[in-house]
Amino acid sequence: MQEKGTISIHTENIFPIIKKFLYSDNEIFLRELVSNAVDAVQKINRLAALGQYNGEVGQGKVEVAFDADKKTITISDNGIGMTADEIKKYINQIAFSGATEFLEKFKDAKDANELIGKFGLGFYSAFMVAEKVEINTRSYQDGAAPARWICDGSTEFEISAGDRATRGTEITLYINADSTEFLDQWKLQGILDKYCKFLPVPVVFGTKPDWIEEGVDEEGKPNRKEIQVENVVNTTNPIWTKAPSDLKDEDYLDFYRQLYPMSEDPLFWIHLNVDYPFNLTGVLYFPKVKNDMDFQRNKIKLFSRQVFITDEVKDVVPEFLMLLHGVIDSPDIPLNVSRSFLQADSNVKKINSYITRKVADKLHELFKNNRPSYEDKWSDIGMFVKYGMISEDKFYDKAVDFALLTNTKKEFYTLNEYKEKVSANQTDKDGTVVYLYASEPAKQDSFIQSATRKGYDVMVMDSPIDPHFVSKLEQKLDKTSLKRVDADVVDKLIDKNEPVSLVLTDDQKTKVKEIFEKAISNNSMQVEIDAMNPSELPVTVTMDEFMRRMKDMARMGGGGMSFYGSLPDKYKVAINGNHKLVDKILKADEGVQAQLAKQAYDLALLSQGMLTGAELTAFVSRSLEMI
Ligand code: ADP
Repeated sequence: MQEKGTISIHTENIFPIIKKFLYSDNEIFLRELVSNAVDAVQKINRLAALGQYNGEVGQGKVEVAFDADKKTITISDNGIGMTADEIKKYINQIAFSGATEFLEKFKDAKDANELIGKFGLGFYSAFMVAEKVEINTRSYQDGAAPARWICDGSTEFEISAGDRATRGTEITLYINADSTEFLDQWKLQGILDKYCKFLPVPVVFGTKPDWIEEGVDEEGKPNRKEIQVENVVNTTNPIWTKAPSDLKDEDYLDFYRQLYPMSEDPLFWIHLNVDYPFNLTGVLYFPKVKNDMDFQRNKIKLFSRQVFITDEVKDVVPEFLMLLHGVIDSPDIPLNVSRSFLQADSNVKKINSYITRKVADKLHELFKNNRPSYEDKWSDIGMFVKYGMISEDKFYDKAVDFALLTNTKKEFYTLNEYKEKVSANQTDKDGTVVYLYASEPAKQDSFIQSATRKGYDVMVMDSPIDPHFVSKLEQKLDKTSLKRVDADVVDKLIDKNEPVSLVLTDDQKTKVKEIFEKAISNNSMQVEIDAMNPSELPVTVTMDEFMRRMKDMARMGGGGMSFYGSLPDKYKVAINGNHKLVDKILKADEGVQAQLAKQAYDLALLSQGMLTGAELTAFVSRSLEMI
């Protein structure tokens, strides 16, 4: 008995099209066929559990094998199997239900994944690598006859009596000439490792050597004998499928090491587990990133019912959490759809905010439960938290409770604590609280010391993300401005309207200005005589906070800032008119005046790490002559 038929679609050439458009991703045929086999095993288990199948279920198993000589790959399972009618229904009709639509849409599709899932072409992905596919199957149903289906990649198929003796399905792919690369142990092992590593049913690929002990030798030691055992490629119950209460820290760490063998251990992790209003499980790890802005992205793996789908989770996980590592498994994320569709999907939106909330809750908990340990980890955690605060207002609002500011004394404060700490002494005449920060404490030491003498606190903002964080804080905090400690001389950083009087007459002031301008002779340096405390430095070089920030942004590629990047650097050279050196300069001979001014100016540059190259060499020889 043999039956021939035509697959019910209106075109003769779907397979060439599938092959052509799906070519780049053709390895997924294995994922599709192995997942179908896993489904078949799970179906029989479910029927048995429901009492609808009374036969021997046995250990469910999927086997993958290949024969390089015959050019075949087989995928077999002891699952539910199919009757001839079911093949007609599921393979000939269902698997092709989307085919017509597929043909209409294929032109717009960007990648194979997108098409395959969307149009239910899972089984037919076999034709990306095979010139002929054979199904040999036997249904679990009592007295079901085995059935065989053969299709050569045209729309013609042939269905006949099969010869399978046991329940289940065997799919044989006769690999086409372009795809012989798949007839290789390592190639197939690699694909199975990528997609099938955590499938819920054992997947066996060949054998591997092992040892058993049998009898004893003359010395009474057990005899070891080499045997071949099945090479199971997967872990059927990975940690994210388990209850958090059944897991120890070591389990989470082991899993992390398994996923990222070369990485340092993570800082901590979050076990995601929700089944309403969407289904999502997973474990997200916080890696150690330090101050490294080039952290590894795309380290989160997305699964759907334990089948690996992709490690591009951009649209599922909030952008700032792309730095996390780990696994997310959800059957509710529409797979294989375009990005714009994904972003608009309501489940994806909910998942996104769920993950954000979980991360915020975890951080808050760590902060509350053990603040010293949280502070220790802040250099790593801070990166995520700041990034999150900058990129998502919802996260900012939550992070207010656990974001920390650090100062030059290495103390940690929450935003509220910090405000409390500095408000009294650092509020200017207009009622604005001024937060001071250093971006390079070593270089800005003289400024930090001046500020400290005034009783001001100086935060440390030295990570690559901090320039953005500074802007964000300023935008969010009420009546607060942030200034880098070297943005101006200390009295002007926080203008409290407590003027210091200048000892110089107007004539002297003009004279001093002239002397310095001549000695410096640099257009980028704008000399200004200020009335300061006599104990402050005689010369200070500063750059306006606004201008410097714009330039920093331009350098980091901030949008629309390139204009500022093109402006020349402009500095202010503040001369402390009340310093005794100024008095000395005024009283000195003309030749010495210029020399003293130049020396004081160079010392200012030197203390700020701005004196380099020929200028530095000249300064050193001049100083040597003087002593
Ligand atoms: P999908 O898996 O998305 O339903 P497929 O084209 O991969 O689409 O498969 C079509 C149908 O063929 C499946 O839904 C299933 O009913 C049947 N099928 C495929 N492979 C097997 C198998 N190994 N055992 C039993 N049934 C199978």
